[in-house]
Amino acid sequence: MDNSAHPRPTRITVDLTRLAGNLDAIRARTRTAVMAVVKANAYGHGMLPVARQLQASGVDQLGVALLEEGIALRAGGVHVPILVFGGIVGEQLDDFFHHGLQITVSSLAKLRQVEAAAARLGQRAKIHLKVDTGMERVGTHSDTCGPLVEAALAADCCDIAGIYSHLACSDEPDHPMTAQQLQRFHDACAHFTRLGAPMPVRHLANSGGILHSPDSWLDMVRPGILLYGVLPGDAARPLPGIQPVLSLRSQVVYFKVVGAGHPVSYGATWVPQGATRVVTVQMGYGDGWPRSLSSEGEVLIGGQRYPIAGRVCMDQFMVDIGQGTAYNGDAVVLVGEQGAERIGIEEVARRAGTIPYEILVRLNERIPRRYVGSTASDN
Ligand SMILES: *Cc1c(COP(=O)(O)O)cnc(C)c1O
Repeated sequence: MDNSAHPRPTRITVDLTRLAGNLDAIRARTRTAVMAVVKANAYGHGMLPVARQLQASGVDQLGVALLEEGIALRAGGVHVPILVFGGIVGEQLDDFFHHGLQITVSSLAKLRQVEAAAARLGQRAKIHLKVDTGMERVGTHSDTCGPLVEAALAADCCDIAGIYSHLACSDEPDHPMTAQQLQRFHDACAHFTRLGAPMPVRHLANSGGILHSPDSWLDMVRPGILLYGVLPGDAARPLPGIQPVLSLRSQVVYFKVVGAGHPVSYGATWVPQGATRVVTVQMGYGDGWPRSLSSEGEVLIGGQRYPIAGRVCMDQFMVDIGQGTAYNGDAVVLVGEQGAERIGIEEVARRAGTIPYEILVRLNERIPRRYVGSTASDN
């Protein structure tokens, strides 16, 4: 969208030095291989620049949800191994081979489809077996996955690159579900031992697992949100060295004085008691800024916190600066630091009544993204 010489002043800034630092902090803590998760446009940060930085920083592997995300990474010159998590349909299989993408095999039936495609194309498939240990989404239940492991080991043109599962409650420290899922995962992996086969790379930990459950780290971890410097939930314990990667800034585009009793924005839901100063910011739900921040969100102007006044519109919202001062062109921080104040994605999510993930992935293509900092390469 950034095709005008003078785009509107709203900007996402992605700090690649911080991204690389977060990867280092995760590696230093777990001392395992890392599969960095860059699905959903790298949680709103921009998939290609993020993936290229992670590759330059020596990440072992990337994970995405969709085949088309994997294809876009390959088209963008990313050459590290990529696993596609998503449940796939048969017609998609050829593209996995054409683009050198690793396939999630979640059932015996999927394994048969992969084998058939590999035989037809005369290529070897790189697969990760997906075990369901409690999420009830995709994967063979851990107590019935013996036949899948046996069939995968017997399959001629499949290399088993990994076995994995996904944690449902790891963002809450000490949630009993996590230990239960870990036990079930170990039971599933034990089939390899029973069959005298080499153990593939075992991976289970998402960001919550990395933060709270060292037992879940195993051979490789799969950080998503933590890589971007954001905590997965309100109860999550922070990890030293992790810093937010994304900031979101705009500028004041309009200033006015609103008289007592004059409502502001759609629905006339917000009405000042006395005369007040109101500024307009060019950002709205059409950009992914949640409408549920209407009269709930806050922004920083001149190092001060001010509340959003009334409904967030599609392209703009208004801010009540009271008796404060602001001029057209003044910086407005929606996410990030200004002076001594800071607004994190976690706070925005709380105020909007959702989770940090949703705030990040909703920030859409209408907002120009600027990339700053490191691409120093060690591979
Ligand atoms: C999205 C995803 C992750 C990353 O989760 P975070 O909570 O963001 O760390 C890891 N593994 C799988 C299979 C996923 O779908």
